[in-house]
Amino acid sequence: MKLLITGLHDERFYRTLQLIGDLFFEECVINLEKADDERDLTLAFHLEAGDQVKVQVNLFDHEGNEKSTSYVKAMQPVETEKERFNQLKYAVSHAYLTVLQEWTGMVQKWGILTGIRPTKLLHRHMKAKTAKEEAHKQLKDDYLITDEKIELMQRIVDRQLAVVPDLYELRDEVSIYIGIPFCPTKCAYCTFPAYAINGRQGSVDSFLGGLHYEMRKIGGWLKENNVKITTVYYGGGTPTSITAEEMDMLYEEMYASFPDVEQIREVTVEAGRPDTITEEKLEVLKKWNIDRISINPQSYTQETLKAIGRHHTVEETIDKYHLARNMGMNNINMDLIIGLPGEGVKEFAHSLSESKKLMPESLTVHTLSFKRASEMTRNKSRYKVAERSEVEEMMSMAEEWTKEHQYDPYYLYRQKNILGNLENVGYALPNQESIYNIMIMEEQQTIIGIGCGAASKFIHPETGKINHFANPKDPKTYNESFEAYTEKKLKILNELFDKKESHA
Ligand code: SF4
Repeated sequence: MKLLITGLHDERFYRTLQLIGDLFFEECVINLEKADDERDLTLAFHLEAGDQVKVQVNLFDHEGNEKSTSYVKAMQPVETEKERFNQLKYAVSHAYLTVLQEWTGMVQKWGILTGIRPTKLLHRHMKAKTAKEEAHKQLKDDYLITDEKIELMQRIVDRQLAVVPDLYELRDEVSIYIGIPFCPTKCAYCTFPAYAINGRQGSVDSFLGGLHYEMRKIGGWLKENNVKITTVYYGGGTPTSITAEEMDMLYEEMYASFPDVEQIREVTVEAGRPDTITEEKLEVLKKWNIDRISINPQSYTQETLKAIGRHHTVEETIDKYHLARNMGMNNINMDLIIGLPGEGVKEFAHSLSESKKLMPESLTVHTLSFKRASEMTRNKSRYKVAERSEVEEMMSMAEEWTKEHQYDPYYLYRQKNILGNLENVGYALPNQESIYNIMIMEEQQTIIGIGCGAASKFIHPETGKINHFANPKDPKTYNESFEAYTEKKLKILNELFDKKESHA
């Protein structure tokens, strides 16, 4: 679909126009320049900004159909040009989405929001103690979010505050993410830093050497500066793809290097791939009091697992789940993905009925997204996925199923190119929510990323300003540079928490 857009000359509008266009059309090409005979739609904007921002948009298609809409909003006082422009951008998005909804007949449930963390908007209101009705009205009026999604946001925010009542006061603490970049094989939809454990991407030994070093240095800094850890999360890759002995040494390092490990509210280890789980490794997890693990089926249909390159069987997922349960793991998360290639309502219903037999403490329901770097996106034609309406139906099935089985939604995030423009939702049985997931989604405290591909998010304890910092993704580069990366993080931490330079 080719869209000619006139009347908006500032190139900064381009990205928003593209993102919103993508919500409606498969291959959306935006042209902000001049008339092009090949266009399918023309959208003529008229924008005025003074005390108010006024946007008028007229849409014309090939068949002579015409739609138009306008939007007016008072301009808020601002300090920077960027803030001023953002108000124009929101107004343009509002009119643009409205006219496209009218023309296509599609309703975008998240309105003009294309970001990852919609619940943050509601937290901002809660923190400012805005009355709920007023907050909801603003979300609806300003962003065109539907009542259904606003209700979902409110349920999630309420749940999060019940689980972490001091959520808004945790900025003086940090959480830690530890990235272990190895997996038995690479899944087709994956864009995580995940390297085949037997591959040639740098040795596991040298990687673990670097990781222990980072843990000691960062842990030393936290101890020295009396900064507490709220949660720790081992992700990747698959952190259980290393040997039981290597895992044992890693957790021993955690206890030796991190401050007050017994006081940490939660330690999670992703054991994502069932083919990596053994009795020996579960013993190690128990030995070090790991609170929560993830065993991820993604689907309970064998052909799907094969098609996406997960070299394990459905039985293996179920067996490993029982093994973990029998060995005393009592907080297990399982991930399902809606819209995997070849899957529709039938396969998803099967996955839900299998989940019922296991009843994990939490169930995270993802919607497949076509991320640029995945093998699936590179070879899109080879993977047949469900239509938007079917994806929506599966999402509703997940909502109903979780409700029926007493799971509550407690975090959500969205991604670009997610099927049906939906969301990923974490559901949990009462009091089994993952605190780390809340921390990472709501961005209320610093998360220090350690290891391969680990992204740190530094949040200023007073201003809340966010700075991102990423460790190298591949083990080889990591092995060559972990000392320098650790130094940089310590420097940022010193500045952030206003501490004097130290050599922890
Ligand atoms: S198990 Fe997870 S991290 Fe590993 S390749 Fe598959 S999707 Fe990626």
